[in-house]
Amino acid sequence: MILLKTDRELELMREANRIVAIILEEIAARIRPGVTTLELDSWAEERITGLKGLPSFKGYGGRNGARPFPATLCTSVNQEVVHGIPSAATVLSEGDIIGIDVGVICQGYNGDGARTYAVGSVTPQARRLMETCRESLRLGIEAAQSGNHLGDIAKAVDGCVRAAGFSVVRDLSGHGIGRNMHEDPQILNYYDGRRGPRLKSRMTLAIEPMINAGSWEVCTLEDGWTVVTGDGSLSAHYEHTVALTDNGPEILTRC
Ligand code: MG
Repeated sequence: MILLKTDRELELMREANRIVAIILEEIAARIRPGVTTLELDSWAEERITGLKGLPSFKGYGGRNGARPFPATLCTSVNQEVVHGIPSAATVLSEGDIIGIDVGVICQGYNGDGARTYAVGSVTPQARRLMETCRESLRLGIEAAQSGNHLGDIAKAVDGCVRAAGFSVVRDLSGHGIGRNMHEDPQILNYYDGRRGPRLKSRMTLAIEPMINAGSWEVCTLEDGWTVVTGDGSLSAHYEHTVALTDNGPEILTRC
């Protein structure tokens, strides 16, 4: 069931997502060669709690007997797609790309957002992959209009990524969000021809294309979390939480 949010709930979600947006904005200046992903994580945890939020990924889940997620951020470098675990051993190098995913709970409501950043100067292919992913998210959000169907989001994202010659990860998707980080509906990024349910005002959706330079296939490392591309190609990830309104989608992960 897709939950529609009240005005009060939307207010609380704006606050949680505002904190997410601040982290994604401020972390940009901290991403440079020589920094470890653990240092980024420690900074983010302190900043989130300073803003009166709670990191929602820390302690989350644990699938297939895996340990719960141990950190505040997901930090996914180069061929890592999502859910990379921050580590003192992961030192960023010139030319890397890094996806940072942030989840925050504030007064019982969730915010979720992600961006991919260049570490110093990156290859033209890496740059184009990141730009394509960001553009596919923009188009996906543009399609998130009440009266449209869920499948219109997938169609917009998939069309953009295919046209650029990249591929959309199929095993992972966006999601509804609210009191729980993951609510209905599941938001596919690849288009399988299904229209899906009709979109309505007051739905809150985390739209998050994950795209690969090579094949769409991915696998999970032995840590139980880190998802990597099957062929070792680069991957990018962008995410916004949006609220559907009568006047179109409102991006909540924006400061
Ligand atoms: Mg998400």
